[in-house]
Amino acid sequence: MKKAFFLDRDGVLNVEVDYLGNPDEMELLPGVPEALEMLHRAGFLAVVISNQGGIAKGLFTEKDTGAVHARMQNCLLRHSPLATLDAFFYCIHHPAVTGECQCRKPKPFMFEKAAADFDIDLSGSFMIGDRMSDLFAGRNAGCKESCLVLTGYGEKDREKAAAENFQVAADLFEAVQKLLKIR
Ligand SMILES: [Mg+2]
Ligand SMILES: [Zn+2]
Repeated sequence: MKKAFFLDRDGVLNVEVDYLGNPDEMELLPGVPEALEMLHRAGFLAVVISNQGGIAKGLFTEKDTGAVHARMQNCLLRHSPLATLDAFFYCIHHPAVTGECQCRKPKPFMFEKAAADFDIDLSGSFMIGDRMSDLFAGRNAGCKESCLVLTGYGEKDREKAAAENFQVAADLFEAVQKLLKIR
């Protein structure tokens, strides 16, 4: 079985801009390509697990989201073929518009889908995000550890994450470094 780093997207891989639907506004955070290279060298997959409620709200379409992901991959590929993302899973719903759905984090559905699609051992895998809902999603999915990054909205939840016994790291690079040590 494979193991994975599950990664929230906005505020972890790219600069948080509140409802990113325009590929031209996609800006990678510093150290992200290097972090992805590091986790791939260690034999892990990089799987994006993201809530994109802006689709339910009509702020952008799934096609726009595909274009954002394509631009992300192109930017990463410019650094190195080892820096790319292996898969993208995202929830298109928003509770205020579409009501409860089965996939939105902190529910573990997207992790389970990824695990089934890619033969991933969740108990040997990690989750990294900038919100409590990301960390609880990783915990609900049975991941080994979840880590808050202080990029994006992370700084706001620093104490809450520590109080809930989650890992905390400055950014994606530091988070991957830290989690690889406790693998
Ligand atoms: Mg985020
Ligand atoms: Zn959903």
